[in-house]
Amino acid sequence: MHKKVLIGVAWPYVNGELHIGHLAGYLLPADICARYHRSIGNQVLMVSGSDCFGTPITLEADKRKITPDEVVKDYHQKDTHLFREILDLSYDLYTLTNHPNHIKVTQDFFIKMLEGGYLFIDKTKQYYSPTQNRFLPDRYVVGECPFCGTEDTRSDQCDSCGKLISHGELLHPRSNLTGEDVEFKDTEHYFVDWPKLQPRIEKYVETAGRNWKDWVNNETLGWLKEGLKPRAITRDLDWGVPIPVDRIPQDLLIENANSKRIYVWFDAVIGYFSASLLWATINEGKWEDFWFGENLKHYYFMGKDNLVFHTLFWPGQLMVYNSELHLPDVVSINMFLNLDGKQFSKSRGVVLKIEDIVEKYGNDLVRFYLTLIMPETRDSSFVWSDLYEKVNGVLVANLGNFIHRTLSLYKGQKLAKTNEINEVTTSAIRNAFRKSRDFLESCQYRNYLDSVLELTAYGNLLVDKHKVWELKKTNTEEFEEVMTQLLGVVVAIGYLINPLLPEGSSRLSNYTGLRGFDKWPEDGKEIETINPLIKEIIVSDGLKPLFTKLDKTQDTF
Ligand SMILES: [Zn+2]
Repeated sequence: MHKKVLIGVAWPYVNGELHIGHLAGYLLPADICARYHRSIGNQVLMVSGSDCFGTPITLEADKRKITPDEVVKDYHQKDTHLFREILDLSYDLYTLTNHPNHIKVTQDFFIKMLEGGYLFIDKTKQYYSPTQNRFLPDRYVVGECPFCGTEDTRSDQCDSCGKLISHGELLHPRSNLTGEDVEFKDTEHYFVDWPKLQPRIEKYVETAGRNWKDWVNNETLGWLKEGLKPRAITRDLDWGVPIPVDRIPQDLLIENANSKRIYVWFDAVIGYFSASLLWATINEGKWEDFWFGENLKHYYFMGKDNLVFHTLFWPGQLMVYNSELHLPDVVSINMFLNLDGKQFSKSRGVVLKIEDIVEKYGNDLVRFYLTLIMPETRDSSFVWSDLYEKVNGVLVANLGNFIHRTLSLYKGQKLAKTNEINEVTTSAIRNAFRKSRDFLESCQYRNYLDSVLELTAYGNLLVDKHKVWELKKTNTEEFEEVMTQLLGVVVAIGYLINPLLPEGSSRLSNYTGLRGFDKWPEDGKEIETINPLIKEIIVSDGLKPLFTKLDKTQDTF
């Protein structure tokens, strides 16, 4: 029975351009996952959007002397263009968190938490500008380091001695906007009572955690063991989802609620849910099918800095909102990708723009290499020399070359109807499908790629062992027998690479005249499906190598 699969992709923050680390970390894994599930007949809803709120956006706006709204529009447009036009990521909806639908749904979550008794009011201290008559986010405050006396240091960490500065420890705090002195003053906020929710979350993690990578599970369990702490859900800021003041009883209303906003950690994850509702409205679909009942699978993709928000807080928010809602199954978190061993950093010039590399090499090459080095269990590094080595030595020499040799040898030939895939090839193909399915289900993309490459290696071995190019001239019968096996592998590869290398898979479809590599054969029926197909293959006159070698001397990076 086919499943309904929700794929939630982390919401990129719109205060800077995305780099290749984002692609390897969560964008590409999510897209492979979506394409795979569609190819096996599951109904997929892949959603995400721009994360629009919070101080990094207002800081960026101040820096560029434009409004936060303009910052959002600018980057949202850039990211949407990148995802749609350049990367061809298969989102069903890509929206933003300042959409009225999202604001309304976030407020609904807030009210449910308040009504359920999971929010309480408490005071914290925050920098306050008496002249501006408003509270200032930490990032707008500078002062003197209490450790080394450096002036104009940030409020949370000294730029000079590197020591962390606790909230309120900064000496002579000043606004870095106006230069005027600021006070450290009490302010009321709502807090999520995580300790109260912890038992329910623990129960969830006990079961769901089995689907996660070990390190993800361990880190989550570590947080639970230490005990969840209450967490502020509102802050003194004017750029964010407003507190639904009209819907809160007087005795539960905090002071100056109108000048406070809901924290971005609380609202961004709600985007997975609000986007599902918006998708249903736009497409006349049923969002309920993806959130209630049996036969559902929910995947979430993100970088490691987002872990607890998805393994602990988001499930907790969902439970309180409606206990019938489906909770995250697979939380797929990657470590970081570095560039030649260094962390990506705009200021230090360690950058690699996605557009640049995709325009130069094409999507498939980039998808292949990033999957091969995907930081699934530890940080990994994008290394130029390694890219050449792996593309030329593996993608071209192993996979591309096998396909090209086979189809070139077969061009203009026809197989007899009686030819069938033999036992050895059957088991090689079945094995590749079985492993690929398992690895794709559990988001182990490096292993999935390995199992595809194992199959092409098997094909290459057959070509060499039987010297097929000689057989073609000397022994028609044996040539056809071996060619049957090779074509069987070619067709299997056409399916298997579809989620990972959609463009290559589609070219292969053109070269063979076969349609539909994006719909995999039924599980266990691979050979029955492929056997008749190989006899329909007519190699196109336009046949070219599926992938071509990179020439290092052409490198402009
Ligand atoms: Zn210092």
